[in-house]
Amino acid sequence: MELSRRSFLKLSGAGIGVAALAQLGFTTPAYAADVELRIREAKESTTVCPYCSMGCSAIVSVQDGKIVGLEGLPDSPINRASLCSKGQSIIQVANNERRLKKVLYRAPGATDWEEKTWEEAIPAIARLIKDTRDATFVETEEITTKDATGNDVKTEVTANRCEGIAQLGGAALDNEECYLASKFARALGLVYIEHQARI
Ligand code: SF4
Repeated sequence: MELSRRSFLKLSGAGIGVAALAQLGFTTPAYAADVELRIREAKESTTVCPYCSMGCSAIVSVQDGKIVGLEGLPDSPINRASLCSKGQSIIQVANNERRLKKVLYRAPGATDWEEKTWEEAIPAIARLIKDTRDATFVETEEITTKDATGNDVKTEVTANRCEGIAQLGGAALDNEECYLASKFARALGLVYIEHQARI
């Protein structure tokens, strides 16, 4: 069939109209049943979008260990059930064959990655944190103030800070996790503590 530009636009408009009506709820029974079946047996839980500092919440429907549905959380005072296009794509973070699920380690100077277990990785990370903290911990420092006559006065004061490690929090951390993470960092003496929401 040969289509003129005008008839092509008419047909396209009709197609878009049908799609819009379907989204408004004028669906065929088959379409509606498909949507219902997709999440009927799924277990719902809430999560926080990991992408930006807005911290929008979402309801995730999981069936057989796989995410089958995602929608904005109506109870969230931040996003009130809405999700931006990036937030709607977080399903792809989980349902993604390229998702990293194992610890990979590349030794200094090496070109290849080696798989490690968490039993190997966690003590190694803890060792690096401890060694870095010990090597960069500043117990005291000299400060300069002025005396009453305007002359410099040097004084040794307690510093107790670790200058070799920084901590960066992310939007996916909730209030309690942020509290624990910042307490842990301060216990180590960290002063460079930042959060994605402030950057
Ligand atoms: S849904 Fe969009 S606006 Fe909300 S946290 Fe995720 S990326 Fe940010």
